[in-house]
Amino acid sequence: MISIGVFGGTFDPIHYGHTHAASSVQNALGFDQLLFVVANDPWQKTGGRAITPAPLRLQMVRAGLSDSPGMTADDREIRRGGASYTIDTVNELLADNPGSPISLIVGADVAAGLDSWRDSDQLARLVDVVVVDRGDGVGATLAPHWRITTVTITPFVVSATDVRTRIARGQSVDGLVDPAVVKIIEANRLYDVTPND
Ligand code: ATP
Repeated sequence: MISIGVFGGTFDPIHYGHTHAASSVQNALGFDQLLFVVANDPWQKTGGRAITPAPLRLQMVRAGLSDSPGMTADDREIRRGGASYTIDTVNELLADNPGSPISLIVGADVAAGLDSWRDSDQLARLVDVVVVDRGDGVGATLAPHWRITTVTITPFVVSATDVRTRIARGQSVDGLVDPAVVKIIEANRLYDVTPND
């Protein structure tokens, strides 16, 4: 039996806000495994902008975690294909690791929407939810059926939206995104990146 932290996201791209939040939670709770689960098709986000193909987002997460021991990129949602539902991911993890406690790590913004997720009643019975409180006043009021632990972290103010906007404007993302991830962004001309070579 191992304790598993599941940090799910679109990671388009992964940035230091993600790794900072995950390592703060890891320091507080000490999971045996902390998985960055890359959504194949984040159904609640699709419909607006074009999302970067999942294999490239996975490649960026792998690169962004290469200096973070104990944190692993997990591609099961991509291998499964189609829309990504956390309930399927949790059921697969439980099938592979019977009886292991599973914690979903979510920002307060995401936690507020948990009841709209597929099979949320079943999900609430299967997982603990770790709400990352960035001390920014964005709190989450969750229905009482969720088991919640809150971890307050030092805020690291950045979002993937900020990163994409900065790159599209030709601004630097130094200090926000791992250089290995920036290389992949540039090599693939993601987010309208203007190459300087
Ligand atoms: P976007 O700006 O495209 O919506 P994002 O930066 O919020 O993306 P996601 O992949 O959607 O990134 O988020 C994955 C998880 O990371 C979510 O639970 C989100 O709340 C959390 N998260 C994102 N940015 C930060 C940050 N700066 N600090 C802590 N948690 C964060």
